[in-house]
Amino acid sequence: MTHVVVIGAGSVGVACASSMLASGLPRRLTLADLDHAKAEGEALDFAHAAPMLGGATVDAMPLAEVSGGELCVITAGAKQRPGESRLDLRTRNEEALDRIAERLEAGGLPRVCLVVTNPVDLATERLRRRWEGRVHVLGTGTVLDTMRLRGLLSRRLAVSAESVHAWVVGEHGDSSVCLLDSARVAGVPLATFLERRGQALDEALRTSIESEVRGAAYRVIERKGATSHAIGVVVARIARAIARDERSVLPVTVPVEPGVSFGAPAVVGRNGAEPAGPPELSPREKAAWDASLGALRAANAR
Ligand code: NAD
Repeated sequence: MTHVVVIGAGSVGVACASSMLASGLPRRLTLADLDHAKAEGEALDFAHAAPMLGGATVDAMPLAEVSGGELCVITAGAKQRPGESRLDLRTRNEEALDRIAERLEAGGLPRVCLVVTNPVDLATERLRRRWEGRVHVLGTGTVLDTMRLRGLLSRRLAVSAESVHAWVVGEHGDSSVCLLDSARVAGVPLATFLERRGQALDEALRTSIESEVRGAAYRVIERKGATSHAIGVVVARIARAIARDERSVLPVTVPVEPGVSFGAPAVVGRNGAEPAGPPELSPREKAAWDASLGALRAANAR
């Protein structure tokens, strides 16, 4: 990928830059932040490893001069304070997002824009509407939540995460939907796999899995103030699918009905994400999907 621009050089922006550089994706990576000195300092810090970065260059640009590059990753804006939900960030971050959009419209739009800033589903929908037909916009959606679920099941079942096929869809937030009925372990339904080990996929187990996945970010925020490393790895994974036109199916933020976007299966490649249609849902999963959709519909309408 020729040029990746990361807007927001805070913990998340730096983690995204770090993971993308480590995976050898960009030829050039540019950091931009309201705090230009911080962006410059981070860029210099990366640039000192240039001989080990496979020829990639890292620089910083003032926001007033920034253009979007081939892929623009937006991580700028406020993060959750302990106890705050992602939706609570909406008002604070919409203003930042609009200002960034204006800058990019003046300096040059990206070909693809990957939104990370929370609430990521609302932020992605806002930019998608604004840049429809001009930029391929997608958000990180529930890719991170899905990694958390697969990791958790892998640990509890003591099998490799590669053998666990389980998805989280819906809002990247408190109404996210863990698809436990359709989860498979090496092709075997999760419920059957558990039964063979004398365990039932009962209410208590479902609740414990769901609350561990939904509460994962809160537990990190309580301890270190923000999440960053895992989302950095997730962004590099999505960027790889775009750079190599992999057409990998990932639960990124895409439109699921007119005016509402959230984490749903989509084919990710050179032109961003193409919705792959809703997953197969059991009646209880469908109810949770509808509730998540309802939460975002209401937030969009406000
Ligand atoms: P941070 O406070 O460390 O960094 C935010 C940076 O954005 C700061 O450097 C700030 O100067 C910059 N900024 C603010 N307004 C700006 C503007 N208008 N233009 C340019 N730069 C601006 O925060 P963080 O921990 O890096 O988190 C960033 C965002 O990522 C938050 O909204 C957080 O909730 C979100 N996040 C999303 C996911 C996900 O899964 N999508 C995961 C983790 C964090």
